[in-house]
Amino acid sequence: ITIGVASETATGERRVAVTPETCKKLVARGARVRVQRGAGRAASFDDQAYADAGAELADDAASAWNDADVVLCVQPPAAQSLNALRQGTVLVGLLAPQGDAARGEAIAARGLLAFPLERLPRTTRAQAMDVLSSQAGMAGYKAVLISAQLAPRFFPMLTTAAGTIRPSKVLIVGAGVAGLQAVATAKRLGAQVEGFDVRPETREQIESLGGKFLDLGVSAAGEGGYARALTDEERAEQQRRLGEHLKGIDVIVCTAAVPGRPAPKIITAAMVAGMKPGSVIVDLAAETGGNCELTRPGETIESNGVTVAGPLNLASSGAVHASEMYARNVLNFVSLFVTEEASREGRLAIDWNDELLARTVWPERAAPQA
Ligand code: NAD
Repeated sequence: ITIGVASETATGERRVAVTPETCKKLVARGARVRVQRGAGRAASFDDQAYADAGAELADDAASAWNDADVVLCVQPPAAQSLNALRQGTVLVGLLAPQGDAARGEAIAARGLLAFPLERLPRTTRAQAMDVLSSQAGMAGYKAVLISAQLAPRFFPMLTTAAGTIRPSKVLIVGAGVAGLQAVATAKRLGAQVEGFDVRPETREQIESLGGKFLDLGVSAAGEGGYARALTDEERAEQQRRLGEHLKGIDVIVCTAAVPGRPAPKIITAAMVAGMKPGSVIVDLAAETGGNCELTRPGETIESNGVTVAGPLNLASSGAVHASEMYARNVLNFVSLFVTEEASREGRLAIDWNDELLARTVWPERAAPQA
């Protein structure tokens, strides 16, 4: 079984889908791993480390992919590059097959077996393969560091000869994986941290990290452990209470999302106008439009003395650890069909009765009925 990894081509992407550590494990079970020279450089993994882990180094993307049975990536490859893959090649990564019509068509037309990892069911068994969670953890961490960097205040309380400094009040909006990491990180920096979410179970999770749950009187647990969209009345109530509360907040980190939909708009322009000058908003949800009305994806703006940042692809900015986690997630996923036995026999052991494979594959029809 040959596994191919080309350099990521998306602008600003520093992560890599295979690290020397995961390469070594794949090689140990009999797979050939072909890595394009320089593929790990932006994540600080050099070619020699891959060679030492048993990888074959390829001079360009085409030779890394040539005759590969499995292609691993972080971001979706460009549609036209998929034409280099032969029918039945397995493609694993954050593929967003519906994000670009040409890409979706290329996957279907080439008869590729695409496994967009964002489709992986979030079951207990899938946790070790859950790239959304591992990458969200890095994003939540980085978002807090950016907010601390932008803030004209200390986060911790300080007692100094120049007087006492009061701790910053930080509010984390949305307490999923990124939000909880943000709570923990802001807490470690010494801020007074509050968080809120529409899923009631997050109260205990926020509190267990030393944060305070901000109760806005709205609960909207949806299917599969995710949130549902709020009704108009629920949204109005949430916003009324929140607007009052934000007047006393120094830093907001937004992480709220609803799968498959634009990010919920939670912080209105009027709320921002009511905040103290020098306050900071870092909107992690910028990728899907932002939780704040003023967020401009990829930009940092100022409005009435309030800084609003909408950073993109924060996981990439922590490329070493983000790649280590991503690559382990990917290794665990491909281990479903790249087994020692499969490598010996030279064919992928894809079991369509395994719900993790059957529910992740795209297009859906590629999976025969169990
Ligand atoms: P996400 O990125 O889709 O959303 C982030 C958070 O925003 C969620 O907690 C959501 O409830 C919240 N949110 C949505 N609308 C909101 C609103 N209007 N106001 C405030 N908050 C709002 O979610 P995620 O972080 O990927 O995961 C969400 C949850 O899924 C996890 O916390 C967990 O409970 C569950 N999950 C389970 C597993 C597993 O068991 N294998 C793995 C990962 C996640």
